[in-house]
Amino acid sequence: MKALFSACCIFLAVGLAAQNTPAARNVFIITTDGFRWQEVFNGADATLISDPELVKDTSLLKTEFWDADMEIRRRKLLPFFWNVIAQNGQLLGNRAYDNRVNVANLYKISYPGYNEILSGFADYRFIPNLTVRNRNQNILGYLNKQAAYAGRIAAFSSWNVMPYILDEKHNDFPVNSGYEMLDETTDTLHILINQVQRNIAGQSNTRHDMLTYESAKSYIEEKHPRVLFLGFGETDEFAHKGQYDTYLQKAHQVDMLIADLWYYVQTDPFYRNNTTFIITTDHGRGRGASWKGHGFWVKGSGETWIAMLGAGIAPLGEMKEKQQRYQKQVAATVSHLLGEAFIATHNVASPMALPKNQPQQTTGNEVAVSNHTTAIATADANK
Ligand SMILES: [Zn+2]
Repeated sequence: MKALFSACCIFLAVGLAAQNTPAARNVFIITTDGFRWQEVFNGADATLISDPELVKDTSLLKTEFWDADMEIRRRKLLPFFWNVIAQNGQLLGNRAYDNRVNVANLYKISYPGYNEILSGFADYRFIPNLTVRNRNQNILGYLNKQAAYAGRIAAFSSWNVMPYILDEKHNDFPVNSGYEMLDETTDTLHILINQVQRNIAGQSNTRHDMLTYESAKSYIEEKHPRVLFLGFGETDEFAHKGQYDTYLQKAHQVDMLIADLWYYVQTDPFYRNNTTFIITTDHGRGRGASWKGHGFWVKGSGETWIAMLGAGIAPLGEMKEKQQRYQKQVAATVSHLLGEAFIATHNVASPMALPKNQPQQTTGNEVAVSNHTTAIATADANK
């Protein structure tokens, strides 16, 4: 009993300390859909980049992204990751060192992946990639109900299913997704972005990442959200199409956009030195020739990576010790960095910053299954 009492005191003390001294004031969660750990840590794949079926001009693409030296090669593909994050932040998931990041959900497609990242919970129920309401609470919605964050939460994504995964309707924070128009009354740039969006021919469920980025950035400059989700989607789109050249180019573009955003953050007094980026993906993909696909049946689809940079992140660079992390730990890592506890009606996986033997933050029973799925408008089964 005494031991239990002491344990409770320690737990409370840790909780209070965390709440008094948050490591970060703002957190941005940034994802790029279905981008493999293999390219993050090894750069372009030797076989895939040489395959004329997957790359229109193999020799030109190789001058951009190939080098026999793996360290140079990965820096060519993702210069911000390897010049900045590797120096000042952390890169998790290089399986060459047994440093692993996995999805904990069974399905290894997008909806379950984003749910896991944002709710901190690998739901055993299968929700396909459809515009169906997610009834799991997520970290953004939770924070939006806290006084310090109310109205300071936002999400921008290329994929038009994100408002359903984040349950925008019931969480009351803005989720701008797909080719959704921006509010034209506040910013002249929004009028321009809307004009471009209206004139994109052959709109799919995934908006051009560049438009998502410009929309998000103008919102950030104007409203200074404290917690932001920014979801890029084109890496997955072009992998499914079997275009390894465009897959690499889009990944390179995402790296450049993150670099641009980090530069903005570090030169804006509101964000400078008190903001953390957590960058990850929603699922892996197949290995070798099965690189185009992913899912329950495709080996390698559960293997992912996480990059972190900014306030509260020790500059440990590429992590090389044997370790297992899960994408479901992202949600509580966000709240932990902010000095908050994410309390939900489902289990929430422990934050990455805590030692492995720390008890999980749980709040009791898992939420009852709901089969009230609504508004099935678009199917995106392969996302
Ligand atoms: Zn996909």
